[in-house]
Amino acid sequence: MMETVTITIGKQKNIALIAHDGKKAELIEWCNENAEILKNHFLCGTGTTARMITDATGLPVRGYNSGPLGGDQQIGAKIVEGKVDFVIFFSDPLTAAPHDPDVKALMRIAQVYDIPFANNKATADFLIHSTYMEQEYDHEIINFKQNIANRAETLPSGK
Ligand code: PGA
Repeated sequence: MMETVTITIGKQKNIALIAHDGKKAELIEWCNENAEILKNHFLCGTGTTARMITDATGLPVRGYNSGPLGGDQQIGAKIVEGKVDFVIFFSDPLTAAPHDPDVKALMRIAQVYDIPFANNKATADFLIHSTYMEQEYDHEIINFKQNIANRAETLPSGK
């Protein structure tokens, strides 16, 4: 059993917003519908998605690089650093994307860090209307310092 640490997702969430091209209009509409809730949180997103949401809704969305140019990886890194704690990602299941490995990596790292992650509108609706949106939420994350200490002690070093 891995040791864990308790991490608190604050009342104000750090929400990442991402949509593939075929889903951008749907995510923009969803942001419009939920603007009153979203405005209480910190928003960021992949470059094009972030820009289009801000243009259409007026919500401030900090933009990272465009997804195919590493934006998904930047958001994954923010999850690792504890600076993104909630993800809405309208991915397009019917279109091949050049950055499919990055998308998988983002989903995986969100799983590792127990991050709420919506990959379609219904899940996003259930998440955004959860009572946890207005509360702090404690969750158990693998203790990564302890994990490194254990691995360094137990793996063969060749010495
Ligand atoms: P974009 O990237 O917001 O820059 O279009 C999204 C994606 O395709 O991952």
